[in-house]
Amino acid sequence: MCLDRHGLVIKFRVAHYWPMSVAKNLADIQRRIAAACDRAQRPVTSVVLQAVSKGQPVEAIVEAAAQGQLVFGESKVQEAKAKIPLCAGSLQWHMIGHLQSNKCRDAVQLFSMIQSVDSLSLAGEINRRCEQISKTMPILLEVNVAGESSKFGYAPTRLLDELEALNDLPRLEIHGLMTIAPYVTAAEKVRPYFRQLRELKSRCEDRLGAPLSHLSMGMSGDFEVAIEEGSTIVRIGTSLFGARPTMKQ
Ligand SMILES: *Cc1c(COP(=O)(O)O)cnc(C)c1O
Repeated sequence: MCLDRHGLVIKFRVAHYWPMSVAKNLADIQRRIAAACDRAQRPVTSVVLQAVSKGQPVEAIVEAAAQGQLVFGESKVQEAKAKIPLCAGSLQWHMIGHLQSNKCRDAVQLFSMIQSVDSLSLAGEINRRCEQISKTMPILLEVNVAGESSKFGYAPTRLLDELEALNDLPRLEIHGLMTIAPYVTAAEKVRPYFRQLRELKSRCEDRLGAPLSHLSMGMSGDFEVAIEEGSTIVRIGTSLFGARPTMKQ
């Protein structure tokens, strides 16, 4: 446990953190997003930049928010629960990490979107917790496009099998799909996975008979390729905030 000079417990310490660079990094990323949109002949307003603040101190979030950044992504419920109340302003928080059933009760209170729904049983539990607080939750369905054993997410066929049952959950609104591409050194190599996610979204739209607005794909290393392939939400951590400090208590 770490105490500050007043004896209060600090859970998420500021470590090696330079606020100046967040403003500069954000401007750089926005410029690169605009250039990618240009290449893809898409309006720049069609892409939401989500700042992935997992592992980052509240100070970094506040700095990004001061630059006008509104949407943030966290991957752990406990961490989000500690940090969100310390961040002023009307920021939006999305859950992007693997969610366990026993964390759904907190998650539905904390987040305005859950991007990491990867099973019908999890969706059912989110639905049940939303029902208890009369909330409707926008969700994305996470897909493991490359079939990596190290990653969570639906296999495409299972997603199509469960789609109608997911859509029947009254407190959930399916807004689209999310994926984490395999880690590669050359971003171009992940283009086929982004394309597959886009194609899967069309198949889901056919089944549902309704359009889905979001494809959440692209991170620090590959967001430009993702935009060229139709991403509407890019989730960027490292390029914005720098390397994640370790979060030892
Ligand atoms: C950590 C994380 C990101 C951000 O990754 P960076 O490479 O730091 O930009 C995006 N999406 C998810 C689901 C993550 O867990």
